[in-house]
Amino acid sequence: MMRIGQGYDVHQFDDTRPLVLAGVTIPDHAGLGGHSDADVVSHAIADALLGAAGLGDIGALFPASDEWKNASSLKILLEVGRTLRSEGWEISNVDSTVIAESPKLAPFRDRMIDNISEALSVDRARISIKATTTDGLGFTGRGQGMAAVAVALVTSA
Ligand SMILES: [Zn+2]
Repeated sequence: MMRIGQGYDVHQFDDTRPLVLAGVTIPDHAGLGGHSDADVVSHAIADALLGAAGLGDIGALFPASDEWKNASSLKILLEVGRTLRSEGWEISNVDSTVIAESPKLAPFRDRMIDNISEALSVDRARISIKATTTDGLGFTGRGQGMAAVAVALVTSA
């Protein structure tokens, strides 16, 4: 059986925090506000995977409790990967798009993909991370925050 899932996440900028995307700390840029490290990419991917497997969402599985305060979202992905495997699912591929006017992600993309691939224990060829802007429109265009979307395909025997 093959199943697809999608994820969407948004956080507003908070310039008192570091910017963490797919586990990579991006220098010289405002960070994002949130309970954990506010890693929009990891959150969108986690929700896509959970959705594909029909296992709920990260809000329910990783509540805003002390355990996850300022936690690395790669830990959330690690848990999501384990949960999927324990339910008999294999991750076929993940594709995520970061939506923001800045920063330029090209210099960080390889490390971002490495982190996601390690956290999920899947080959990096199965992970794709892209970036786009909204041409100055909307909340991302105004520089109020960042969004990320993701789709994931999972298979089971
Ligand atoms: Zn989030």
